Amino acid sequence: MYKYDPKSLKAEEFINHEEILETLKYADEHKNDMELINSILEKARPVKQGNGCVCAGLSHREASVLLACEDPEVNERIFKIAEEIKLAFYGNRIVIFAPLYLSNYCVNGCLYCPYHLKNKHIPRKKLTQEEVKAEVIALQDMGHKRLAIESGEDPVNNPIEYILECINTIYSIKHKNGAIRRVNVNIAATTVENYRKLKEAGIGTYILFQETYHKESYKRLHPTGPKHDYAYHTEAMDRAMEGGIDDVGLGVLFGLEMYRYEFAGLLMHAEHLEAVHGVGPHTISVPRVKPADDIDPDEFDNGIADEMFEKIAACIRIAVPYTGMIISTRENEEVRSKMLQCGISQVSGGSRTSVGGYAGYSDDERPHDTEQFDVSDQRSLDEVIEWLMEKGHIPSFCTACYREGRTGDRFMSLCKTGQILNCCHPNALMTLAEYLEDYASPKTKETGYALIDKELEKITNPKVKEIAKHNIADIRNSNRRDFRF
Ligand code: SAM
Repeated sequence: MYKYDPKSLKAEEFINHEEILETLKYADEHKNDMELINSILEKARPVKQGNGCVCAGLSHREASVLLACEDPEVNERIFKIAEEIKLAFYGNRIVIFAPLYLSNYCVNGCLYCPYHLKNKHIPRKKLTQEEVKAEVIALQDMGHKRLAIESGEDPVNNPIEYILECINTIYSIKHKNGAIRRVNVNIAATTVENYRKLKEAGIGTYILFQETYHKESYKRLHPTGPKHDYAYHTEAMDRAMEGGIDDVGLGVLFGLEMYRYEFAGLLMHAEHLEAVHGVGPHTISVPRVKPADDIDPDEFDNGIADEMFEKIAACIRIAVPYTGMIISTRENEEVRSKMLQCGISQVSGGSRTSVGGYAGYSDDERPHDTEQFDVSDQRSLDEVIEWLMEKGHIPSFCTACYREGRTGDRFMSLCKTGQILNCCHPNALMTLAEYLEDYASPKTKETGYALIDKELEKITNPKVKEIAKHNIADIRNSNRRDFRF
């Protein structure tokens, strides 16, 4: 039997099955213990410190008690604190990105994914460098600056050299005023050496979803292929960090296993990264299983209702206050609207989940042949930007932090010292101005500049405010781009 140890580098010790079962038991026993719940909520609240704010976060046990509690008044307080934390550390900014599918060749047997090896009727496709270029131009023409590249696992068709070549191509394309300034990477678990190569290629975040933390279910859901190895997959983030990548993104594919188990596992993973590497996950994604070719989500019995999904997001927000949270277009507009109030800080927009889904297609045309899953939010990027602004959020195309070396714990300390209003906030406004000037519809442009004028006034440092105003005027009146603090 394995013993729970957050500092261990062994998957079964830092994601310890017995500890999760104990946690769930503890949560059930204490879900009506109001004294404990009040003390947990008190601990979770952001506290003013100097110019900024600090937050204690919650342990997986404490957060699991909140998740188990069914009291409506407690739930309301959880959502309120989640929103307070989001505003304290991320302001009203929402970072924008799009996925770029490179290849759907895959040697794994994941039961929930249409790219599984046994799916013989899905066409297999891998982008050539010319096709990567066309996709990137199409994405730049929409206004994107940040991508998440996606690929199946196939050492012959998609070796690391192919991924590196694609990253190189993506960064090299400067079309009109466009540029992709941050490439995040979502590829299968790999070696320290390969992570080092990805780091050298200048990637932003390395993203890898755990899918499920439940080892037995994991093995059943991944019956064949290299991904079958639970420990190798679960220990991937430690290898990524050893390879020099200090922004890593976690996630669970909700619907596969019991959500309470996944929730505790996810937080234990975050605690493990903090304990071993001194820095928690940069982001956490919350995907839910979607219908796809050869996949019926109802075959998995653990689907969660929207209300619980929102509560999970809010509880993650307060447990790991400095971690960005991502919601993709797997969810529709209504769910995404609600999730924005639960602490989400990053959304995708105008996404295509097929290989070669952008170039040559209009906003309302979408190829389905190689699609990974059904996209529920099918609005164009312009519609998503307009929607966010109407709801009082600032869509941000900023990629400054990692380009200025503010990754890992350096990013976290920016959060904690309250410098965000003099750094991330003006960066968001300047990159939004770029979007409005180069890509937006007239209506979005009008809404956007009104928002920028209002939001500029929130910058507390007069010098920073003056520079930001000056740069935005430059963006409007010239082709000068890429200003950043
Ligand atoms: N191949 C890489 C790996 O094995 O981690 C990652 C790329 S895969 C394209 C990205 C993610 O899509 C997977 O980690 C999985 O969580 C998610 N996914 C797969 N099938 C899905 C489905 N039917 N609905 C929603 N998400 C799905």
